[in-house]
Amino acid sequence: MVSSPHAIVIPYPAQGHVIPLLEVAHALADRGFAVTFVNTEFNHARVAAADAGMQDGGRIQFVAVPDGMAPGEDRNQVVRLTILMEEFMAPKVEELVLASRDSGAASGMITCMVTDYNVGSWALEVAQRTGIRSAAVWPASAAVMATLLSFNKLIEDKIIDAEDGSALGDKPFQLNPDMPLMHSAHLAWNCVGDHDQQTALFRILNEGVRAIQVCDFVICNSFQEAEPAALSLFPNVLPVGPLLTGERSGKAVGHFWKPEDEECMSWLDAQPARSVVYVAFGSFTMFDRRQFEELALGLELSGKRFLWVVRPDILQGGAVHTYPDGFLDRVCAAGGQGKLVTWSPQQRVLAHPAVACFVSHCGWNSTMEGVRNGVPFLAWPYFADQFVNQLYISDVWKVGLKAVADESGVITKEHIAGRVEELMGNADMRERVEAMKKAAHESIQEGGSSYGNFDTFAEHMLNVIF
Ligand code: UDP
Repeated sequence: MVSSPHAIVIPYPAQGHVIPLLEVAHALADRGFAVTFVNTEFNHARVAAADAGMQDGGRIQFVAVPDGMAPGEDRNQVVRLTILMEEFMAPKVEELVLASRDSGAASGMITCMVTDYNVGSWALEVAQRTGIRSAAVWPASAAVMATLLSFNKLIEDKIIDAEDGSALGDKPFQLNPDMPLMHSAHLAWNCVGDHDQQTALFRILNEGVRAIQVCDFVICNSFQEAEPAALSLFPNVLPVGPLLTGERSGKAVGHFWKPEDEECMSWLDAQPARSVVYVAFGSFTMFDRRQFEELALGLELSGKRFLWVVRPDILQGGAVHTYPDGFLDRVCAAGGQGKLVTWSPQQRVLAHPAVACFVSHCGWNSTMEGVRNGVPFLAWPYFADQFVNQLYISDVWKVGLKAVADESGVITKEHIAGRVEELMGNADMRERVEAMKKAAHESIQEGGSSYGNFDTFAEHMLNVIF
């Protein structure tokens, strides 16, 4: 039987995954694929409420399936969510693939699967069972992918424990002489929740390594010039990034919160060139009250203009955040030094000429977006892969400074203000990040390495195998 190409695209149900997977979906649609994009019901409702671009004139068909969690459950429990997804989503996805074989299906039968590595191995197993081509998308860095693909070596070298992936001492290691020295305590699975969660995540990631051996392609959200050493270790992992959805559509798509476009952009328009500190910690990061207040005071103390994204759920334990005494009146009144928003159109913000630097949690999307727009970083990681990303920002690319906690574990207001000052006056850093911006831009243009890799991947997925 012959069919036109039709990809089913499955993101892990988190903000930093839906955005780049949606970009992959659009890039496939540009190349003639019909695309079915599978969100969890929970996220589908959030995106619809944020009015953030899931309706795009029928180019992509959006489908919502249950994730297995109860309505009010905490979906930041990454491990529990991942386990439930296998039970609840796998049968639904298989049903979608099989149902598409009915001749009456609107967009024809599904011919390939493009799945986020992080959803778990079940998706690639569904592809195998149903006999369609499959590709895994690693939406993070090639360096972190390399740590997963080096599990056996890390175990043999006694860097991590074979059973639970935990650190065996604090011996630094290098996967390749041109990669930075890493510490086992900073490996992604060791930076999530408690020991049980870390063990469970290590096993899920390990399963994933086995599963990708049987898929047709692995692509990642990086570019050749950013990570040549990590990419040289595993040449089968093709970099196709940076995957920036806003760049393609000119608008924010796939957002879980409604971006305050007008608020942000008109405020930025009124600021001088390269005068604003942009502060945003992605979709997961949470602070304790002390650190949150210290950040507020540090921004004030810097004396710089700032645009700060404060999500409603930014404080740990569901607490409601409050600002230091008088902060809002002193700093954020009309015409003041600072502007607060609950969610920004980040890619547009970073591209704005008023933005001078980025205080960031080093989520990989934020890292790629900062680089793509030539903005230096104050690198302040929170969990998972963000510690390795921080190493790249500060030690490998040298396009940012590390935020360092004092002995009590707090990043103080004096430190924040000092680092921002240092960052804004550093011409060498600015020059290096501008060079990366150019390289990132070129890689995704026709003729560039990421563009070519995407073509290779898409052509391969075009070939229907049954
Ligand atoms: N983001 C945004 N507005 C904000 C904060 C974040 O649009 O106010 C987007 C950001 O551009 C990125 C994603 O949310 O695409 C966050 O992904 P990242 O990998 O940086 O962090 P995560 O949320 O996964 O920790």
